[in-house]
Amino acid sequence: MTKPLLTMRHVRELFPISGGFFGRTVGYTRAVDGVDATIGKGQTLGLVGESGCGKSTLGRIAVKLLDPTEGFVMFEDIDLSKAEGASWKELRPQMQMVFQDTQSSLDPRMTVESTVAEPLQLVGMKRGSELYETVASLTLRVGLNLDHLNRYPHELSGGERQRVVIARALATNPRFVVLDEPTASLDVSVQAHILNLLKDLQRAFSLTYLFISHDLSVVRFMSDDVGVMYLGKIVEIARTEPIYATPLHPYTRALLAAIPIPDPTLRKQRLVLGGDVPSADSPPPGCRFHPRCPWAAAICSEEEPKLRGIITEHRAACHFAEQFKDQPVYVSSNGG
Ligand code: SF4
Repeated sequence: MTKPLLTMRHVRELFPISGGFFGRTVGYTRAVDGVDATIGKGQTLGLVGESGCGKSTLGRIAVKLLDPTEGFVMFEDIDLSKAEGASWKELRPQMQMVFQDTQSSLDPRMTVESTVAEPLQLVGMKRGSELYETVASLTLRVGLNLDHLNRYPHELSGGERQRVVIARALATNPRFVVLDEPTASLDVSVQAHILNLLKDLQRAFSLTYLFISHDLSVVRFMSDDVGVMYLGKIVEIARTEPIYATPLHPYTRALLAAIPIPDPTLRKQRLVLGGDVPSADSPPPGCRFHPRCPWAAAICSEEEPKLRGIITEHRAACHFAEQFKDQPVYVSSNGG
C-alpha cells in the first residue's frame, strides 16, 4: 500500500433509539461498531456488504458529514474531529462525496453550469471568466459537451446526471472522494462507462477513493483493497485479488458464491445463506454472523472473533479462518 491518506481507528457510530412515554433513549443502533481501515494515497478501498451493514454511514464519517461516536479519522496527520474553523475550511474542499441518487443530489432548479460552479463559489475559489472556464473544462472532462451547461437535471439521462455530480465533486480539486453506490441506479452499459470514467479521473487527478457498493463485481473492478462489512463491522479486509481468489471469511465466501461466473471451466462451492441480516439494534452475541453461518460451532455464539491477520495483508474475523487458506472459491469443473 502507498502512504496512507485516510486512516480510521476504532470508529463507532451509535444512533440512539427512543422509546417509552417520555421518549427516553432505550438503546442504540450500532450502525458502525469498531472499524479500523486505511486507504493509501491514489488507491481505492472498496467496501462491500448487504444493505444496512453500515458502509454508507462509514462513508459519511470518512468525509466528516458525521462525527463518530467513538474512535477517530485521520486525514494524513490531521484528526478530523479536531478540524474546525479555519483548518476545516482549508480541508473541506479536499474531500467530497458522490451519492447514488442523482435525482435528490441535484437541485431541479439549477442548470448544469450553476451546479458545477456552486462548490467553487461557496469556497470563493474562482469568479467570472475563470469560473466559467473551470466549469466548462470539467464538463468536457467528464464526457459531457458544452450544450449540457444550460440544461436542467430533468433534461438529462441518468448517466449524464451522474457525470454532472462527478464534475461538481471534482470542482474543488479534491484529493479524496467517497463514491457511495455511484452506479447502482444505472443501466449496465452506462455503469461501465461511469466506472471507466472514475478510473480515468483517478489516474488523471491522483484521487483516492472510498468506493461503496453491494455489487462485488463492480468493487473488484474498482478497488486495490476490499473490506467486507457485516452488521457494522469489517469481517474481512485484504488486497483485492486474494479476497476474491481465497476469501477467509464464510460471509465473503457466501457473497462470492452468489455471483455467476462466465467461465464454463470453473465451478464454485455451493453455499446458500439462510435467514435475514439481524438487526443492528441487538446484534447476536459472539460472532454476529453465527445465526446464518454454515460453519458455526459452539464457540461462535459465545466468543466474538477478532479481526486478525491470517496471511500477509489479509485479515479476517472468524475463529476458523485458517481452514479456508487453501480453499479457493473457484475450482476447475473437471476436478483439475
Ligand atoms: Fe462462522 Fe464461526 Fe467463523 Fe463466525 S466465527 S464466521 S460463525 S465459523
